[in-house]
Amino acid sequence: MNDIEDLFGQLGIKEETIKKSNEVLAGLEERFKAIDETALYNQLKVVKAMQDARVSEACLMGTTGYGYNDLGRDTLEEVYANIFKTEAALVRPQITCGTHALAIALMGNLRPGDELLSPAGKPYDTLEEVIGIRDSRGSLKEYGITYRQVDLLSDDSFDYDAIKKAINEKTKLVTIQRSKGYQTRKTFSVKEIGELISFVKNINSDIICMVDNCYGEFTERIEPSEVGADMTVGSLIKNPGGGLAPIGGYIAGRKECVENAAVRLTTPGLGREVGASLDVLRSLYQGMFMAPTVTASALKSAIFASCLFEDAGYKVVPDSKATRHDIIQAITLGSPEKVIAFCKGIQSAAPVDGFVSPEPSDMPGYDDPVIMAAGAFVSGSSIELSADGPIKEPYAVYFQGGLTWEHGKFGIMKAYQKVLDIE
Ligand SMILES: *Cc1c(COP(=O)(O)O)cnc(C)c1O
Repeated sequence: MNDIEDLFGQLGIKEETIKKSNEVLAGLEERFKAIDETALYNQLKVVKAMQDARVSEACLMGTTGYGYNDLGRDTLEEVYANIFKTEAALVRPQITCGTHALAIALMGNLRPGDELLSPAGKPYDTLEEVIGIRDSRGSLKEYGITYRQVDLLSDDSFDYDAIKKAINEKTKLVTIQRSKGYQTRKTFSVKEIGELISFVKNINSDIICMVDNCYGEFTERIEPSEVGADMTVGSLIKNPGGGLAPIGGYIAGRKECVENAAVRLTTPGLGREVGASLDVLRSLYQGMFMAPTVTASALKSAIFASCLFEDAGYKVVPDSKATRHDIIQAITLGSPEKVIAFCKGIQSAAPVDGFVSPEPSDMPGYDDPVIMAAGAFVSGSSIELSADGPIKEPYAVYFQGGLTWEHGKFGIMKAYQKVLDIE
């Protein structure tokens, strides 16, 4: 037994799990090499973006009060615009989460009488209340903005005929979600998103195309903003925050669209001019600097989990061979006990709250109890090693994150061990 195996043993991983993991990993060398290449490309892209924006030590300091002339904030927004190759970006700690970023992008760019179209099926759960699919105080629906949806075809491709029919003279904005979220469809590649945007723009070039980019950033070399998206939107406690950003969201896109969102974040007239960055800028810059390699670690962890559990006979989405366009891994475990065991395994690998044992509980907005595992430095951060699963058929867990590949690997081995122990 070598020293690593010895430590694994002390951490509750049995020999057969170590052996199986090594076997699975031996087959992953080529794929991991490709992920490292993408990380290198994106790392260079990020450093170049920072240098081109002339990031200086002074940019790391924050402002207070109104935050007029906040050099660090304005330069960070230039960095994001450089990375996403857009005219402008809004990147702020005042954007409280991904849903908030998406909501101000929508509310800022839609007016009463306009119609919003989702051509790729149902959007993320939290957006249902923003849009008014589920009645909610302050929704777009309350302001007279209508909504239309075109579902995907059975093979998860876009239903172009139905999309063409759905677009009418009221259609103002199209929202496209890159990641599958908690659905079982596939995640779209940037290329596929680009094809959909071209199709929409061919019908009416004035339609604003927005992409919900959550969990997708840096999994490829290009972002949706490079294939025609007018707004690319996401959360800083996922990929682009690199695990260091304590809060925030971003909108990168056409200047007009970004300004429209900014006056909804603050107020008409004030727009991007106000919004003190307080003391968070250093972590937003450093997090972005780390984001390409952190995303690579999360991708490796997802692929390892996929291969290990597929090998053990479980259904995994994406499967072990699929190319990746986000960091989410779904594993169908088939029983509530195994979902709970998996989450307990992830939790017991955490650097923070590793001694806590998660239990299923009722959550607002869900019909069934949900179990969540997260021992994170940033509360609720899902770029850190985390898992969750609703306790309902088909008893699947959604796994994501891992700030380092080494930690992701350990977490998955822990989860695997716990599932194995109750088989
Ligand atoms: C996480 C996520 C969001 C936004 O979620 P928040 O929890 O509000 O940050 C939106 N869309 C998708 C696809 C997501 O994964």
